[in-house]
Amino acid sequence: MKPLLTDMSLPELQQAISTLGEPAFRAKQVYGFLQRGEDFSGMGNIGKGLKEKLEAAYDAQGVRVLRSFVSSLDGTEKYLYALRDGNVIEGVFMRYHYGNTLCVSTQVGCKMGCAFCASTLDGCVRDLTPGEMLSQVLVVDRLHREGEKRGVTNVVLMGSGEPLDNYDNVLKFLRLLNAPEGICISQRNISLSTCGLVDKMDRLKDEGLGITLSVSLHAPTNEQRDALMPVNRRWPLETLLPACRRYERMTGRRIVFEYALIEGKNTSLADADRLAALVKGLRCHVNLIPVNEVKERGLLPPQQKGILAFEKRLAERGVSVTRRREMGDDIAGACGQLRRSHLAGEQDEQGE
Ligand code: SF4
Repeated sequence: MKPLLTDMSLPELQQAISTLGEPAFRAKQVYGFLQRGEDFSGMGNIGKGLKEKLEAAYDAQGVRVLRSFVSSLDGTEKYLYALRDGNVIEGVFMRYHYGNTLCVSTQVGCKMGCAFCASTLDGCVRDLTPGEMLSQVLVVDRLHREGEKRGVTNVVLMGSGEPLDNYDNVLKFLRLLNAPEGICISQRNISLSTCGLVDKMDRLKDEGLGITLSVSLHAPTNEQRDALMPVNRRWPLETLLPACRRYERMTGRRIVFEYALIEGKNTSLADADRLAALVKGLRCHVNLIPVNEVKERGLLPPQQKGILAFEKRLAERGVSVTRRREMGDDIAGACGQLRRSHLAGEQDEQGE
């Protein structure tokens, strides 16, 4: 694969353009087009010579939209993107009253093995580069932009992949995403979700970022968490929770705990009590997510009554808690399922 222009900051692009023997001011034009999600074909006035030199040496965007699916229920959109090497990843675009959120993937697949997640079923194929993550935002922003009004205002790193397992690339992506001369998404509008890689959480707290850290907790005891998330054997609750406290103290940002409600696994009122005790004294918020059915794993969400009772019990115990709005139910399925059904379709076609 050729080097990717969206992997570069503006100073890096200026350097690359001057080594092609072109004036540095051209870099700002090219950078502007890239940040608006354009490929070479959309770079109107940069000069034929420069365009040819760039096209010969570089790729512009790291992804292109292969297919999109729009929910007839709430307008949520799911995208299947093609990477330059033929791999596919997916993303979700959600509309809220405060803006539009894009869920970004950080790896092709994932090696963390969470029991409720389709992204991990075939392991991790490879890490994404910073520009491949940024291009997901730029191309979707382009599709939804209205004049100067940005199409994507919030970004969550919750697609396929464990962001902290691709630490350096994700850090550069966060800096590119927030660059004042770029798309400039405020750090307050960015959330990074981790299954709990404690060593990397400790690194992240010292990076001087203002992003929100979401921790996938999903169970109130080690025994339950071990069964759902293999990472718990490496970083059990007695090391994870202190790391959350250190992160909160250092950054001043409250932690968001994600808790997937899975029938028969973690949804009793005693579980709610244990969860409340676990997070006591920590500035945090718990986000309840009725699990998406993953047919390969036989996991189901609880009935609505059970969900409400769990939420009520946490609130009674003084925990700040909400239920995640279920979006795009008619198109979504669990994270990673779109990619899997696409790959299965390709195999079917090859088998015919
Ligand atoms: S939930 Fe996240 S960390 Fe766990 S397997 Fe899926 S993508 Fe990986």
